[in-house]
Amino acid sequence: MKINRRKTSQLSVGKVGVGSDFPISVQSMTTTKTKDVEGTLAQIYEIASNGADIVRVTCNDIDAAKGLVEITQRSPVPIIADIHFQYKLALAAIEAGVHGLRLNPGNIRKESQIKDVAKAALDANIPIRIGVNGGSLDKDLLEKYGDSTPEALVESALKELKYLEDVDFNDIKISVKHSNVRAMIESYRLLAEKVNYPLHLGVTEAGPLPGGLIKSTAGIGTLLNEGIGDTIRYSLTTDPIEEAKSGRQLLEYLGLRERNSLDLIACPSCGRAEVDVIKVAEEAQNVLNNENIPLQVAVMGCVVNGPGEARSADLGIAAGKNKGHLFIRGEVVKVVNEKDMVSSLLEEARLIVEEGIEARLAKADENAAEIAQKDVDDLLTSQGDINNFLERKKSVVEITSNQDNE
Ligand code: SF4
Repeated sequence: MKINRRKTSQLSVGKVGVGSDFPISVQSMTTTKTKDVEGTLAQIYEIASNGADIVRVTCNDIDAAKGLVEITQRSPVPIIADIHFQYKLALAAIEAGVHGLRLNPGNIRKESQIKDVAKAALDANIPIRIGVNGGSLDKDLLEKYGDSTPEALVESALKELKYLEDVDFNDIKISVKHSNVRAMIESYRLLAEKVNYPLHLGVTEAGPLPGGLIKSTAGIGTLLNEGIGDTIRYSLTTDPIEEAKSGRQLLEYLGLRERNSLDLIACPSCGRAEVDVIKVAEEAQNVLNNENIPLQVAVMGCVVNGPGEARSADLGIAAGKNKGHLFIRGEVVKVVNEKDMVSSLLEEARLIVEEGIEARLAKADENAAEIAQKDVDDLLTSQGDINNFLERKKSVVEITSNQDNE
């Protein structure tokens, strides 16, 4: 079930390769004033430690450009300067040592200015992202298409592309972001047919949680699953740490990056649940996240279905008869008291990280499987009503209708 990525040209943003030969990278953007060097660097460190490979910083005035001199030197990840309206700030950012530029074709429109920036970027050996945005599209294109349609966004990107290629500039990646998820998806699909440059994916102005997260995941996830996209950004109206985490998690969930963080799965709970699944799952998520456990861990509400349904999880726990059945890859390895479910999960997770799955399976408690099977059998006997609920309801209806006929 591997995703086949669309073949692209390759480029480097500082030490991070972008294109189909490289892992898909995660980006986010600072919200600080760039002239506040210490504040901006503190945020860059936080964003980077939460999963971002590249961080974008606004370069909106000369003080910001001056700030970039130190920021680029001290940042743990490559820095991209975000440029709007003033091409001279792009030149200043290059001089400051940034690792890449983002230009908005909707508001830097003079061909000569764009070419000047491209020539300077060529000399500095840094890439440029053509960052088209449905909300700030070139006025001429808006008039031509009547709206910010996928065709209009792609035409804007291709027009800018030509200016860059005219001066032999090819270290290019492109984005055609839109706040409408379906328009965003269509724009990227259309663009992917026309160019082989790496694509930067994002749903622009996605908004606060949870809507912003859902929109971004729907747009970015759909395209990644089709093999389109080489670097991504969640544009959320919240702390940028969440953007970095979300981007990283999406890539891990799609199998596009190695897991380096917790993937907690849990059943939604139902009438069979033997424990407050929401509470236990939240507690487990907190303790395991605090230790940054890079495993898929399951919390399941009942032992009847839990271990089987979460068989693919590295580790899990299922509740039943005031106990917790701790299982590794679907095999019960220990039965603990219900009150110890979360602490046992944490302890076993640490041991798996230290010793590995196979070693922990080999050390399973001797009687665990037997005790577990007995709990399952007892519950199946006492909860048979739930299993046969529909059958019984049908019988009740039949009995009643028979009585009516008599
Ligand atoms: S694991 Fe058990 S409690 Fe959870 S949803 Fe499935 S049947 Fe219900």
